[in-house]
Amino acid sequence: MHNLVPTLIELVRPLPPLTYLAPVGLQPGVRVRVKIRNSATWGVVLGHDPNPPKAQLKPVEAVLDPFPLLPPKLEELLRFAAGYYGCGLAHLTAICLPQVVQADWQTPVSETQRLCDLRDAGDWQRLMELGDAWHRNELSLPSLFHRRELRGAGLTEVCRTSLAHPAKVNATQGRVLANLEAAGGFMLETALLQAAKVSASVLGTLEKHGLIERVRRLDLMSQKREDLVHKDVLLNAEQCQATHAVGLDTFGVHLLYGVTGSGKTEVYLELAERVLAAGKRVLWLVPEIGLTPRLLARLEARFPGRVAVGHAGLNATEKQADVVRLLKDEAPLFLGVRNAVLAPLRNIGLIVVDEEQESSYKSEEHPRIHARDLAIKRGQIENCPVVLGSATPSLESWHAAQTGRYKLLLLTERPAGSFMPVVQVVDLRECYKIARKKVVFSPLLLKASKDTLERGEQVMLLLNRRGFENFWMCRACGRTLDCPHCSVSLTYHKGAYRLRCHLCGWETAPPEVCIHCSAEHLRGVGEGTEQIEDQLEELFPAARILRLDRDTTQRRGSLEAGLLAAENGEVDLLVGTQMLAKGHNFPKLTLVGILNADLGLKISDFRAAERTFHLLTQVAGRAGRAELSGRVILQTYNPEHPAIVHAVAQNFIGFAEAELPYRQGMGYPPFAAMSLYRSEGETPEAAIEPLRQLKAKLMTLPGLRILGPLEAPVARVKDRYRMQLILKAAARSTLSEALQLAPLNPAGPITLDRDPISFGV
Ligand code: ADP
Ligand code: ZN
Repeated sequence: MHNLVPTLIELVRPLPPLTYLAPVGLQPGVRVRVKIRNSATWGVVLGHDPNPPKAQLKPVEAVLDPFPLLPPKLEELLRFAAGYYGCGLAHLTAICLPQVVQADWQTPVSETQRLCDLRDAGDWQRLMELGDAWHRNELSLPSLFHRRELRGAGLTEVCRTSLAHPAKVNATQGRVLANLEAAGGFMLETALLQAAKVSASVLGTLEKHGLIERVRRLDLMSQKREDLVHKDVLLNAEQCQATHAVGLDTFGVHLLYGVTGSGKTEVYLELAERVLAAGKRVLWLVPEIGLTPRLLARLEARFPGRVAVGHAGLNATEKQADVVRLLKDEAPLFLGVRNAVLAPLRNIGLIVVDEEQESSYKSEEHPRIHARDLAIKRGQIENCPVVLGSATPSLESWHAAQTGRYKLLLLTERPAGSFMPVVQVVDLRECYKIARKKVVFSPLLLKASKDTLERGEQVMLLLNRRGFENFWMCRACGRTLDCPHCSVSLTYHKGAYRLRCHLCGWETAPPEVCIHCSAEHLRGVGEGTEQIEDQLEELFPAARILRLDRDTTQRRGSLEAGLLAAENGEVDLLVGTQMLAKGHNFPKLTLVGILNADLGLKISDFRAAERTFHLLTQVAGRAGRAELSGRVILQTYNPEHPAIVHAVAQNFIGFAEAELPYRQGMGYPPFAAMSLYRSEGETPEAAIEPLRQLKAKLMTLPGLRILGPLEAPVARVKDRYRMQLILKAAARSTLSEALQLAPLNPAGPITLDRDPISFGV
């Protein structure tokens, strides 16, 4: 490499940008491989460094991209996100472009020149021009991403390996290799077998010799094949109205509000069809992709071969394949979860965010982006409509729709043949008085469960607490058994016979006597799902019971498999945590029991009521179908609580009208914006000091309310003390100013969570 100049590079490490020597004229946004303290990593070029440090500079190891690969509008979104969330561009780039996506420098750009020739000549100017043309679709570089690709879901693809063509192969093998090579190195297995007129065993032989490879993609499609038949639906009046209210050529945010099954997806599909017909792309976000095989099937049926899927669970090759398809503009509809909001899609004409209230859209690790919020920003940059859909919208979006910032689209018609389940409330205080002890299953719920099972129908029981018992307490000294590393109590898991910390994973065998006072009076308090399962096995020995919670669904795909088994009627009694709310279609489920509706209300978080309302409404909505009437029994110690009252009535608007004035009075979102700064240290003092300094810097900023610094709700995790500082302001821009006034040091002790949604831990 010649003509090296000091260049600022941001690494995918928690460090400030560093200066390396890199070719002059290198474009910002290009990825480079570098070494830091002798370990290899990569980073993104920020630009020329006019004031390089005096120390001897290392050259970059390699330039990875011939030009910035991300579409310019996505770059703009990244710059916004980096500034807004106070995180580095490199960390965001890592989300857009998995590291496996590598451009091929051998790609020809003319009869005589390859990309690497321009690189070796130091002609970065020309490379930049080529990149611009490529982004404008004026230049196609078919082999820029030469690695194997997969097309369509659930299909096997055959690719040629790098092994040289052997001198001697038999005729059938030769036909396979010739066909593959003619097709550019990869083909669908079915197409290849047809073209080469060979049987699959030939592929087996070639694979054994290492000449080809067969790649199979996670088959989400196989589960519900019959849905693949696309049925034309005639949109009803409200659906028509909704689709026409969305202006397709301009930015606007729309909140599509309608109960599950009211036809929201049909509205998205109709809009998507129009957008695709106009030659633009659709970005479609869902909270959890593993649970939407049916949606995927509907999409594939409606837009065959045009859908790409971003899946958190896919392996690197699969992820790469989809990103590559996007970069090559081969899949105009991209379906994905949170991070897909940063997918390298160009020319977007519509962004859909389904179940917009779901907390999984917010990342709980660095960079802490909120996909719904970034989707709106992206719509603004792309100048296209954004449709947020929900049966129970977030109060943020609802408020925005009420005040006219978003357009509200209503679907009020209940789907044909469906109806509201009957909800009965059981006051656990009354049960306690009668039984003179704590009641887990009220007589009403027990009787209803028994009757339901006897009719051969399904029961679902929700308890939003896993483990066997919530914590162990000594009746002699009153103290609890806590994690030695965190300030939380340990949870008893009977199956494993362990006491476990749900924060750090520390575990121990349960002691015989109290570790504080040596009394033999330890007892568990507060039942969890594991204990409920035990009790149910005794109560209903003949029932097929399935428990779904974080302990039983650790293996990838096990939650989906469990829900599917339940949907297929292979389970009589389903017990679990909030995961149960994720299932969609339980034809035989007619009784939903909520064992303790109040558990979520105790968490010290201003969104506790909202979350409880969402969960209860969602779970209650699972009961009953057209043919079988549904029933919900909700047990609570707080029957008067607004979240419970409105969940019982399945009345979202009523809940919003009760909750919003409270938020306003307390100055909580959506009436204020918040930033949560956290700091950790070996001692409480070490943790709090950086936050004190931060506060001092921010004191002068007008319009800012500063709360703290004080202990985080869980004051110690993994032996580290945790402190927090909360900023509140009427406008988000004030919090951006705060961030500019006191920028975070990526290597420093403070982390920022903007628009935090979880305060409890
Ligand atoms: P949501 O997304 O609100 O849960 P869907 O769009 O999935 O609702 O609709 C639920 C079911 O009703 C689907 O099977 C869908 O095909 C069907 N459906 C929706 N709208 C219509 C309509 N106008 N005519 C006939 N069937 C419809
Ligand atoms: Zn712990």
